[in-house]
Amino acid sequence: MQPTTNKKILLNEVESRKLLKKYGIQQNEYGFAKTKSEAKEIANNLTLPLVMKVVSPKIVHKSNFGGVKLGLNSLKDVVEAFDEINANANNFGVSNIDIDGVTVQEMESGVQELLIGVKKDDTFGNVLVVGLGGVFVELMKDVSLGISPLSESYIYKMVKNLKGFPLLDGYRGTERADVPAFVEMIKRVEVMVTEEDKVEELDLNPVIIKRNGDGCLAVDVRIITR
Ligand code: ADP
Ligand code: MG
Repeated sequence: MQPTTNKKILLNEVESRKLLKKYGIQQNEYGFAKTKSEAKEIANNLTLPLVMKVVSPKIVHKSNFGGVKLGLNSLKDVVEAFDEINANANNFGVSNIDIDGVTVQEMESGVQELLIGVKKDDTFGNVLVVGLGGVFVELMKDVSLGISPLSESYIYKMVKNLKGFPLLDGYRGTERADVPAFVEMIKRVEVMVTEEDKVEELDLNPVIIKRNGDGCLAVDVRIITR
């Protein structure tokens, strides 16, 4: 074991997802595979289409390393994706020794991609960020901030204050999204970071929000502990 004073550790996806589960934060179905045959076995027990992602302590932003394969529709796709993900990581300078394996997971669709983030600040404590995912956060910086503890009505306000909120609220006849489920998820994230002292930073990006009544699911989680 390494000394842990002031040392920041990136939890792997499996450990991170266990923490989500402990706090009832909904996530998509998945399994972790070290080998191709394990990947196939997991795929057999999940509902198509699937997604495969690299798991490596050296890789933080998986898609930048060609480490995310979407829309896998058969076992053949899963086998090919396994090889491609490893080859891509190698090409980016990550050797096999630093690749733990892959996750095989269900591909989800919904009304929008959202994000929930938390940073522990020396002065303010847990600062929560919520926003729309993808280009909205990159291009428009469309996020709301809140400092824990947050009331439920304040959390609703954070979501409603997003410029992109109409996209969740049936703008021009589009599907209305399950905003109450998203608010519930934010509350659970707040409980988690309050109770888990070690968690320094958390990113759920994206959270896929479905039609009203159908909930929302985290499909990517990154947790940094100290
Ligand atoms: P990273 O952020 O490390 O690059 P992600 O796991 O967020 O990797 O995957 C990149 C993108 O792929 C996501 O922003 C999302 O658009 C899409 N994606 C990832 N996992 C899923 C999934 N299970 N279902 C649907 N889309 C997904
Ligand atoms: Mg992501």
